This record gives sequence, structure tokens and C-alpha cells, in this order.
Amino acid sequence: MSVQEARKIGRRTWVLDETGLVNAFLVEGDAKAALIDTGCGYGDIREVVASIVDKPLVVLLTHGHPDHVGGIYHFRDCPVYMNHLDKEMAFKGFKTDNAFRRMYVETRGPVRCPGREAMVLASIPSDDPDCSFEPVDVDDGSLIDLGGRVLECIHTPGHSDGSICYLDREERMLFSGDTVNKSIILMRQPGNDLALVRRYHKTLEKLWARHEDYDKLAIGHDGDVIDKSMIHDYLEITTGLLDGSLTGQYEEVGFRKGDVARCGAAELWYQCDE
Ligand SMILES: [Zn+2]
Repeated sequence: MSVQEARKIGRRTWVLDETGLVNAFLVEGDAKAALIDTGCGYGDIREVVASIVDKPLVVLLTHGHPDHVGGIYHFRDCPVYMNHLDKEMAFKGFKTDNAFRRMYVETRGPVRCPGREAMVLASIPSDDPDCSFEPVDVDDGSLIDLGGRVLECIHTPGHSDGSICYLDREERMLFSGDTVNKSIILMRQPGNDLALVRRYHKTLEKLWARHEDYDKLAIGHDGDVIDKSMIHDYLEITTGLLDGSLTGQYEEVGFRKGDVARCGAAELWYQCDE
């Protein structure tokens, strides 16, 4: 049994669900296929990819957090695309290693895959694999041509400085990583300054201005495909926080701690401590 479960979510699109912990997505074009994010590095995600497509692969990272970058060691022969602003974080800020992989399933597992933590722990490689990589920079408007299918990069800072969403007009889908899903984290700012909330608000406005190009969001955690209206729910939160009509409160839920505000189906940890 594989740690990743592949499910078809479009004509030439699959989610690779890493036991409920995090998603990667496989997008097939005529000439190449793109793997969007690589999971934490449990098991062998490359084998799962190879069981679906046998085209040359490119790896597109939505951001540099180790739960999205951790499987990169399976793709040392593939070009890897990521925004340069997340380089520092991916290489120095967070360690993408087995200690992280263990910590991640021990803290997230009880919420996201109860009862299956032991299976995931057993899939961690015995020696720490080499997760270094030299990314090709992508920024606003960069295009990834897979042959008959083009993904457009949209720079969406907030959750991380270098977050990128990938727009797929063929499936009318936006691969939104941790920029928009069901529970977004913005790290706590010194003095609870709202500058990061303001930045994230601009990101949401930018995505919503393009909403006629897509219907669905393919998200990084807690499900796979959701309606684009979630962006609007987040916009209501950031608008309220910024004009003072909404204030959240401190909560501790599962592995999250910090100030959180909610609207509709959206939950924004806008001063998050962990
Ligand atoms: Zn993240």
C-alpha cells in the first residue's frame, strides 16, 4: 500500500493525497507532465507518478515549506520551479529532513490521518535523503508549457513571501497551495502588525480579479478541490480585519495556536504562533 493515494480530479489531472497530510497534484500535457508540490517525502511518490504518466516531468512548487518540498529528492533529474523569495526559507529557515517528517506526522497525524500515523512513520527513508535543489525562478506571468496545456504563474505572497499559484485554463482550475485552502496560516508579526494581512488581502484581490479564468481551487491540505468562492470568504475576513469591523481571538485547535478569524467556510490564522 502506498502512502500516496492518487485520485483523478480532471480529464488529465490527479491529486496525490499523502494520507490526508498534504496534497501534490499531477497535471499532464501532450509533451510533459508537471508535479505540483512533492509532499513531505514519505514513501515513494515518484513510483505513484510513474504509474500514471510516463512523460518527462517538471516539478512546480507552490512554496518552500518542507511539507510541500520534502519529496524533492525523488526528482533530482527534473527541472524544479519555485519563486526566488522562498529559496532562503526552503534551504535555511526550515529543515527538510527526517526529523521534520517525524514531527509532522506526530503533530498533524492525530488530526489529519488518525490511526494511520504508524504506517506513515514506517515509510520515512532510513537515511536522510539529499533535499537540496537549484530552482528555476518563476514569477508573475511565467508560463509553464507542457505541450497543448500551459500553466500560468501568479505570485501570491502572504502564507510565504514567494508563494505561487498555478492557473490551468484547460481545467479552469487554480492550484492554490497554502495561499487559499480551508485554513490559512499567516505567521504572527511583531506587535501584531497587520502589514502581512494587508499583503495577503492584496493577493486575494489579485486572485479574485482573475476569477473568470477558473472555477475550482486545488488546495494543499484538508480536501482536494473546492469552489473558488472560498477566495471571497477570505476577502471578507481580511477586509474586516483591516477596517476594524472584525477581530479574531486567540485559540488553540489541534496543532494551531494563535489569533484566528472565520467567515463562511474560511478560517484565517492571521497571527499564528505555530
Ligand atoms: Zn505552507
